[in-house]
Amino acid sequence: MPESYYDIIILGGGPAGLTAGLYAARARLHVLLIEAGLLGGQMTVTEVIENYPGFPEGITGDQLSRWMEEQARRFGLEIVSQEVTEVKVDRGLKFVRAGGSTYECKAVIVCTGAEYQKLGVPGEAEFTGKGVSYCATCDAAFFRDSRIAVIGGGDSALTEALFLTKFVKELTIIHRRDALRATKIYQERAFASPKIKFLWSSTVHEIKGDQVVRSVLVKNLKTSEITEHLFEGVFMFVGLTPRTQFLKGMVEVDPGGYIITNMAGETSVPGIFAAGDCTKKLLRQVATAVGEGATAAFSAEKYLEESE
Ligand SMILES: Cc1cc2nc3c(=O)[nH]c(=O)nc-3n(C[C@H](O)[C@H](O)[C@H](O)COP(=O)(O)OP(=O)(O)OC[C@H]3O[C@@H](n4cnc5c(N)ncnc54)[C@H](O)[C@@H]3O)c2cc1C
Repeated sequence: MPESYYDIIILGGGPAGLTAGLYAARARLHVLLIEAGLLGGQMTVTEVIENYPGFPEGITGDQLSRWMEEQARRFGLEIVSQEVTEVKVDRGLKFVRAGGSTYECKAVIVCTGAEYQKLGVPGEAEFTGKGVSYCATCDAAFFRDSRIAVIGGGDSALTEALFLTKFVKELTIIHRRDALRATKIYQERAFASPKIKFLWSSTVHEIKGDQVVRSVLVKNLKTSEITEHLFEGVFMFVGLTPRTQFLKGMVEVDPGGYIITNMAGETSVPGIFAAGDCTKKLLRQVATAVGEGATAAFSAEKYLEESE
């Protein structure tokens, strides 16, 4: 039996979820946000956010997270710290299972984000935000005239590497195979760039530094030789996974698992909306996540009015 009833339940408390919560709570609805980790989502692992408007000097991810939470709570958003494991729909009502409890509501907004795949090598976690990055759009500007490494050989690695050449002095793509997987046109552009070098059949063995990244130990997979290379930054593009597995195919997703929505944030199931990095979209940033969170909350509000 459900323990509590809400108008809207928001899954995930990153910028998309906190904005959806702000809009829905301010519309005087009874709203619950369920967050499994830290409120703020990926922002909490971002040292400085320089491209979110309104903060001319940039703002720490931590501070922006706390202010978004404070603003949403001011309008009555309820927040619980639990992991959502299941969503069920029965005659239009939605049942959300989290942390041993079942919550009932009329509309759900999925804002569970995405996770950058990690290499899991020594130094990676320690230097994340201090030279190790997973997002060129976010961090390229911090690496002007630097020497950096890009890890990966697929489309995202090459498009991001080509973008990074506008900023850096020199860039080395470290790839575990002896050929790239990326689309031909990106390969041609990368091979033609005077700023891009390659280390083939190689993996990152360890990332080293002091306060920031200074070098990378690279292992040649054919010879097992380990060599040290001086880099000020390491960009990892080995994959991004949307956190949508708990939906177990309930809503339509693309082959990568990203939820397909229309411009109103509606999914294939009436009353289930989605916003932010867990959806199929062009740009995964804080600015786009908050816009989609607001839209999804507005659409959910309209859905509630129409289903009364
Ligand atoms: C290192 C790094 C640096 C970045 N730098 C920038 C930058 O400078 N500028 C910029 O605009 N963007 C930046 N980004 C991207 C930006 O942070 C994301 O685009 C944005 O946070 C996406 O917001 P979201 O709310 O969709 O998802 P997320 O921020 O991923 O939040 C999703 C939340 O859902 C929770 N969750 C997931 N599954 C469940 C579940 N089953 N139950 C309950 N809760 C769940 C997660 O714990 C998480 O808190 C950066 C990202 C990273 C990783």
